[in-house]
Amino acid sequence: MGTHYSAESLLAKHTIYPFYAPFLSKQRQKKLLQDVQGDGKGLYTRLGMVAGGICKKDGLYYCPECAANDIGQHGEPYIHREHQLQGIHFCAHHELKLKKYPIDFSKQSRIEFIRFDKKLMNLSILQEVEPKEFVTIQIALAKMANQLLQVPIHQFSRETINLKYRVLLRERNLITTSNRIRQNELYKAFQSKFPKGFLVKCESAIDVDDEYNWLKVITRNLKRHAHPFRHLLMLYFLEQDVDSFLQVEADTGPFGSGPWPCLNKAANHYKEFVIPEVNVTRDFKSKAPIGTFECSCGFTLERVLIDYLKINIV
Ligand SMILES: [Zn+2]
Ligand SMILES: [Zn+2]
Repeated sequence: MGTHYSAESLLAKHTIYPFYAPFLSKQRQKKLLQDVQGDGKGLYTRLGMVAGGICKKDGLYYCPECAANDIGQHGEPYIHREHQLQGIHFCAHHELKLKKYPIDFSKQSRIEFIRFDKKLMNLSILQEVEPKEFVTIQIALAKMANQLLQVPIHQFSRETINLKYRVLLRERNLITTSNRIRQNELYKAFQSKFPKGFLVKCESAIDVDDEYNWLKVITRNLKRHAHPFRHLLMLYFLEQDVDSFLQVEADTGPFGSGPWPCLNKAANHYKEFVIPEVNVTRDFKSKAPIGTFECSCGFTLERVLIDYLKINIV
């Protein structure tokens, strides 16, 4: 293919990798790029498709209106990557339900080339009737998935995404002052955001008794990864789309953003927010963060967050 293409630009512009990239740790992103440049063997495992595959697609999908446009523009329809994403069943542009192409690699050799043939496609835009509240959410998710494909593949990672989640959870009072996520409240709020049966239909029901249910995995900083589709559900819950979410500033840390109050009872500015900076250090033994708040009046206060390590990124 000459020197016009790099593995990275192929990944970013012509594969479904950008659907996964922002939700992988920096480390896994790096390993994945090495896989691609090598023999590609570890690729699927690295993406977690084997371990955590949900909403698997059983073939190639197309949108009838996109296909008709392709035929008008290029003389033939082609395979759109945004229609092949796990969990996504609508076209983000035309809000139509995707249709399955009758030929796929389960019916012929995996290595045989498949190209869309318009004679085998159904270009009617008539839709099956589905619950309207389900369709609305599915279309919102399809639009987010489509936005993800435009995001540069190295710009975000599991680490940075997690800090953004924390900001939005904190805004909803779902994080305690000691920086712990209120998992029960989060669970209830999350459940009530989606119509009955929707999460089950998306293979994303949450077992509240499971220590490793995906909502806990996605909000805690564990080594486990969650499926990108579930991150989209999370964004929908947080009333974001991909563009607005990516602009959320990372959580400012255990002590929040300043200014902070001076607690010097002898000062006339007692409890006024006059301390602009916090100096964060770590306890030598427990590694817990210590905030030192030093006021211009000479008063200094130290705060230690003991359970910080359990739930935050270090
Ligand atoms: Zn379309
Ligand atoms: Zn003071």
